[in-house]
Amino acid sequence: MTNQDLIPLSNPDITDAEREAVLAVLKTDRLSIGPRTEAFESLLAARAGRRYGIAVNSGTSALHLCIRALGITEGDEVITTPFSFIATTNCILFERAKPVFVDIDPETYNVNPAAIESAITSRTKAILPVEVFGNTAHFDAYERIAKKHNIALIEDSCEALGGVLKGRPAGNFGDCSVFAFYPNKQITTGEGGMIVTDDENIRNLCVSMRNQGRDTTAWLSHARLGYNYRMSEISAALGEAQMRRLDEILTKRRKVAKMYDDALANLTDKGLIHLPPMEERENASWFVYVIRLADEFTQTNRDEILEALKSRGIGCSNYFVPIHLQPYIKELLKTRAGDFPITEHVAARTIALPFFANMTESQIARVQEELSQVLQSISKSK
Ligand SMILES: *Cc1c(COP(=O)(O)O)cnc(C)c1O
Repeated sequence: MTNQDLIPLSNPDITDAEREAVLAVLKTDRLSIGPRTEAFESLLAARAGRRYGIAVNSGTSALHLCIRALGITEGDEVITTPFSFIATTNCILFERAKPVFVDIDPETYNVNPAAIESAITSRTKAILPVEVFGNTAHFDAYERIAKKHNIALIEDSCEALGGVLKGRPAGNFGDCSVFAFYPNKQITTGEGGMIVTDDENIRNLCVSMRNQGRDTTAWLSHARLGYNYRMSEISAALGEAQMRRLDEILTKRRKVAKMYDDALANLTDKGLIHLPPMEERENASWFVYVIRLADEFTQTNRDEILEALKSRGIGCSNYFVPIHLQPYIKELLKTRAGDFPITEHVAARTIALPFFANMTESQIARVQEELSQVLQSISKSK
């Protein structure tokens, strides 16, 4: 097979505008802590409808600073989802707080609001839900729950930049929200992340802690324990140029999702797969395009399908492995199979298909064709 035949799982959308922005930084002597970082922060905060943006070196760092800024510490409980990327739980463990998992809503893949309410105890300090695959569903409900119980809400918007829920942008819910810019996200800075908030105290703490806990006023005076979580000007320039193209990128991604919806309609009609859930599909910010196999398929079937697709040059993956079944989490938190049955049922049947802004109609057609063949051969052999 030639390389041309491979369709990757994801691909960043970088143009000459981004290349020129990065080169322009390299022609200055400000490679960190400078005007590009500030510009990127302003653009992103505005998009999320927030007063402040604080750029950092990864989405994980951004989550960690939120946990620290909210004073979450040993013995505190944070309610979160087992159906996410591992960083959502790791940031809680960094501070020796306790992640309390609750199961997801099978219709949205986001954590179930009713299950959150019944998991709240006197030790609960915050809720940390995720816009899974870009889906903004339930964030208004999470906000109501947090307010009612007087606990914090951290919105993990790492997969939802530009998404909306009932007229409000992703990144606008709760005390603070977090974005990430790894190359598979809607926009990239290579590596990077951002906290957005309206709270001046959270903002000042994050600004200080990303820079070794430095006092925001006196140089080389360290007020608290901090980190080197700074973003470079090179990354920020890339992010700023990507932000200026965000609507163009999101429109392209919506078109690709629509092409998939149409191309896969006959597999859904046959009851073989479910299309991705997505709130407000016409305005959505698509992170990945994840289909779910019908209930009759097993996890072994799914893994066979992944292998068969890969051998045919189709990039694909199993998003996500449940966090509570990760080896070190099982050991640390004594979690096990059966604890969160809906998460496990969904996670055993998901397949992320190739998805990126510049995907062509013929690439979609090819994925559709290979997937149909593989599905048919697997369901015949059952
Ligand atoms: C990408 C992502 C993050 C952060 O990832 P980094 O690689 O640290 O930038 C956090 N949470 C979720 C749900 C993500 O998808």
